[in-house]
Amino acid sequence: MIRGVNRVDLNGIGMTSQRTRERLIQRLIAQGVSDLAVLDTIRTTPRHLFLDEAMAHRAYEDVALPIGFAQTLSQPYIVARMTELLLARGPRRRVLEIGTGSGYQTAVLARLVEEVYSVERIKALQQRARRRLRQLKLRNVHMCHADGALGWAERGPFDGILATAAPERIPEELLQQLAPGGRLVIPVGAERQHLQVVDRTHEGFDTQIVEDVNFVPLRPGTRR
Ligand code: SAH
Repeated sequence: MIRGVNRVDLNGIGMTSQRTRERLIQRLIAQGVSDLAVLDTIRTTPRHLFLDEAMAHRAYEDVALPIGFAQTLSQPYIVARMTELLLARGPRRRVLEIGTGSGYQTAVLARLVEEVYSVERIKALQQRARRRLRQLKLRNVHMCHADGALGWAERGPFDGILATAAPERIPEELLQQLAPGGRLVIPVGAERQHLQVVDRTHEGFDTQIVEDVNFVPLRPGTRR
């Protein structure tokens, strides 16, 4: 048994918080999330498993929560919104995620697309996420410890790319690894950030600015 994640965790908070989870879903709907597959995936993905024990009781509140190393697990609304945007132009087969973090957004994606390729620069976070995803038996996730600003060229091109850390400008490598018809969802900016959606067409790139967001910065390089 892996320390901290056992049967009790899987069923315990998960079962007793059914009402709290439903309240969260109603809140996401009220905020405009409408993709039923996304809502259902959020409803059935145990967010408490992606948090330390001290934070787990807050797992079904619509707030960002700390995961260590000065990083945060995104607010459920943002996870839902970004996932919905990524899938809005039809199903995605190969999706690249930048910033595995806790692995929660990875788990949501893994249930909605064929293959997820997830890059994280902090090795310790990646290892924790790997254990959690294995526990949930999500076998379509491939992980890499690297600087996500470079994408994952060997595994590209991707028909979806989702970043959960904000660069000041969109890295050229991510645009290059987007297949024609592919869609990139990414927070961009320094002090003020905007969520951007970029579609690769046969002619070039179409960019839309969706809403203001607040992500941790995309940092260069890797650390252990
Ligand atoms: N999706 C995550 C959110 C984690 S916060 C979750 O659901 O928990 C953003 C993550 O991006 C952090 O784990 C941070 O270490 C990672 N990150 C920041 N810069 C990065 C980079 N250049 N390459 C890969 N990961 C990066």
